[in-house]
Amino acid sequence: MRYKAIIFDLFGTLVDNFTTSEYNKVLTDMSAVLKAPPDDFAKLWRDSFYLRTNGTHKTHQESINYICHELGVTVTKEQVEKSAEIRLEYTIETLKPRTDTISTIKELKSLGYKVGLISDCSPETPTAWPQTPFNGLFHVTIFSCVVGTKKPDPKIYLMATEQLGVIPQDCLYVGDGSSHELTGALEVGMTPILIRDPNETVDTHFVDREENWQGPVIASLKEVLNLVK
Ligand SMILES: [Mg+2]
Repeated sequence: MRYKAIIFDLFGTLVDNFTTSEYNKVLTDMSAVLKAPPDDFAKLWRDSFYLRTNGTHKTHQESINYICHELGVTVTKEQVEKSAEIRLEYTIETLKPRTDTISTIKELKSLGYKVGLISDCSPETPTAWPQTPFNGLFHVTIFSCVVGTKKPDPKIYLMATEQLGVIPQDCLYVGDGSSHELTGALEVGMTPILIRDPNETVDTHFVDREENWQGPVIASLKEVLNLVK
């Protein structure tokens, strides 16, 4: 076999990227519960993205408390929990697999490949994970907020390969290119593939997207099955 393991990104790869308009609505709903000024709340939520994805904030409640403190808004524990609940429900909603995601991963496993996940995400994702169809699907699951570093840090890729018991050169890495993840995968020795959903819109939300990618591109996840043959 050309590869021993296939490692996947999550958002924009296994599930759709969320849209900016939905994301903004959730922030508005969260701020309403807290009686915080919506625009200021949304700005600080965005500005604290790295504090959530690199593990500085251990829970999304911690992010909410931090922002309210910064804004000088006094809140009760109940308000924080209600606001956090809105965020968690939205996260569960966003973690809906694309139509070919689960079948492709199961087929790869049945063909003998190890499958791993590396996601730059905030604490709501691992909290929501057991309530999603992904629970138990991967041999190794790495969440940036849990391990305390994010893509394209070489360490996060090497954590996955060590836990999978493979070397980077044995790995195909599939992602939509956020966080410069493909360059990071290439630099540790993996074979990176860009997945680009032809249906994405200008409303699609991206972070630090890989531009000018010259490597291979696929339009749907099931194309991975052809690449490993
Ligand atoms: Mg992504």
